Amino acid sequence: MDKKTILETVLKDEILQLLSHPTLKTIKETVQLENVRAYIIGGYVRDLILQRPSKDIDIVVEGCGIDIAEKVAEKFGVQVNVFKNFGTAMLKTHEMEVEFVGARKESYRRESRKPIVENGSLEDDQNRRDFTINALAISLNKGDLGSIVDPFDGITDLEKKLIRTPQNPDITFSDDPLRMIRAIRFAAQLNFTIVEDTFEAIRRNAGRIEIVSKERICEELNKIIMSGKPSTGFELLEKSGLLRQIFPQLLLLKGVESKNGKRHKDNFEHTLQVLDNVAEKSDNLWLRWAALLHDIAKPATKKFDDKLGWTFHGHEFLGSKMTPGIFKYLKLPLNEKMKYVQKLVLLHLRPIVLAQEEVTDSAIRRLLFDAGDDIDDLMLLCDADITSKNRKTVDKYLSNFQLVRTKLKEIEEKDAIRNFQPPVSGEVIMETYGIGPSKEVGLIKNAIKEAILDGIIKNNYEEAYNYMKIEAEKLGL
Ligand code: ATP
Ligand code: MG
Repeated sequence: MDKKTILETVLKDEILQLLSHPTLKTIKETVQLENVRAYIIGGYVRDLILQRPSKDIDIVVEGCGIDIAEKVAEKFGVQVNVFKNFGTAMLKTHEMEVEFVGARKESYRRESRKPIVENGSLEDDQNRRDFTINALAISLNKGDLGSIVDPFDGITDLEKKLIRTPQNPDITFSDDPLRMIRAIRFAAQLNFTIVEDTFEAIRRNAGRIEIVSKERICEELNKIIMSGKPSTGFELLEKSGLLRQIFPQLLLLKGVESKNGKRHKDNFEHTLQVLDNVAEKSDNLWLRWAALLHDIAKPATKKFDDKLGWTFHGHEFLGSKMTPGIFKYLKLPLNEKMKYVQKLVLLHLRPIVLAQEEVTDSAIRRLLFDAGDDIDDLMLLCDADITSKNRKTVDKYLSNFQLVRTKLKEIEEKDAIRNFQPPVSGEVIMETYGIGPSKEVGLIKNAIKEAILDGIIKNNYEEAYNYMKIEAEKLGL
């Protein structure tokens, strides 16, 4: 037996077990009763073979997918969501999310990624799939129940970890340019290689990505960012020419300049390294975005100074300012997630400065005040930002950060600054001096806050109240 037959034999058991799952058993019985042919298709089959857990199953029906979905839903007594325009229907039962679709044949026009759709056979449907590994089908029909229909030898590509289009890649990508980013996304997610032919076609067709909506692009971009080693995806985006199209600001980080024998590091490489480092420690998408954007303003702030060499003064401020524009451009949400990213970009140098100097209590209190509950994420980003190749430098920084962490903990226990609430409220100030809302109230509150952060008074009502009196007197109240 060759390797492929062995694999198929092993799979057979798994497939039979899968087909005895109540959901699939009922689907199988329904299609057989209705005398239509149907198949499990696409990502689910791929993930089954790769032994990746997945819960969404796609069923392709040679006939009306919606009809079958409605009959299955009736048997389980569950709701079915019908999307008439797409000819699809979805239902959930026994922890499985199943989408039904009629097999289709597609043809494309040049200016749009929305195809002209006709009813078709399984074969037509497999022909319109993006990659050989995504075109695999499992039969639900009498006669060949459970057998794998694999017209493009996707199983071998799965085994060899290859991404390849089932048809001429220039046509596949020109028809629907989103597939180019999907290729890179799967390469990153699954740790697969895009075959040369397919990759060259991505290079040739990169310009076509302009007909794809930013939302769809960003969905794939987020999946690349969430992969185990996101740099793989970004390097492919860069090499293919797609990055220039979809995220030009990031590409500006690339390159090294040298003057009077002084070079700066390649900030593109550095950024990707930081992103990988964060990815090893955290699945927080927005923390990963903060890693991607932390140095985004370096190109715009770069200067050469005869004494200091290359500097990027204020890149954390400018980067934080640039973040909303980038979010808007990429159609990322302009909400508290964006604010979180902005905050981390703005603060990403603070712990480094602290670690280099003597760590004073007031500097720690200020950092806690500014970072609030995001302090741990900020510290994680800072650890990740150390990409020096010199082991000694790395160790020195890491141990300094450890010291900062210890101090943070001490101060937090003592002063509770993390979610600072003014110990003396505006109302108390107004009542005490018989005044209404005014500039003076703000000034006093701010003075109290500053005094606490500087360690002049403790963070409690009594000391804050006394301090209020001093400040009020200064203001002539
Ligand atoms: P995941 O669910 O992890 O994102 P997936 O492969 O299941 O991966 P889906 O977007 O759920 O991706 O799509 C399901 C299937 O539909 C794919 O496996 C593929 O066969 C097909 N498909 C999806 N998008 C496209 C596309 N743009 N062009 C061609 N086929 C596609
Ligand atoms: Mg899927």
